[in-house]
Amino acid sequence: MPIFEYACQDCGREFETLVRSSTVPQCPECHSTKLNKRLSVFATATSAPDAMPAMAGPCGTCGHPDGPGSCALH
Ligand SMILES: [Zn+2]
Repeated sequence: MPIFEYACQDCGREFETLVRSSTVPQCPECHSTKLNKRLSVFATATSAPDAMPAMAGPCGTCGHPDGPGSCALH
């Protein structure tokens, strides 16, 4: 899950927040949604390993140990 840095255009406050696709980030100070978004390099680097499941394994498509067709996706 990406973490973004924002700078509020109304009050100038800078903050970080988790961004979900269903939510709109707000300034914690004045609740404005007029924000300048900046990608937080530090946050994305630390969260990257959890986002990628194992790609190499007995199952050629998804890496499931019981073989092709064994997992929920294939
Ligand atoms: Zn603000």
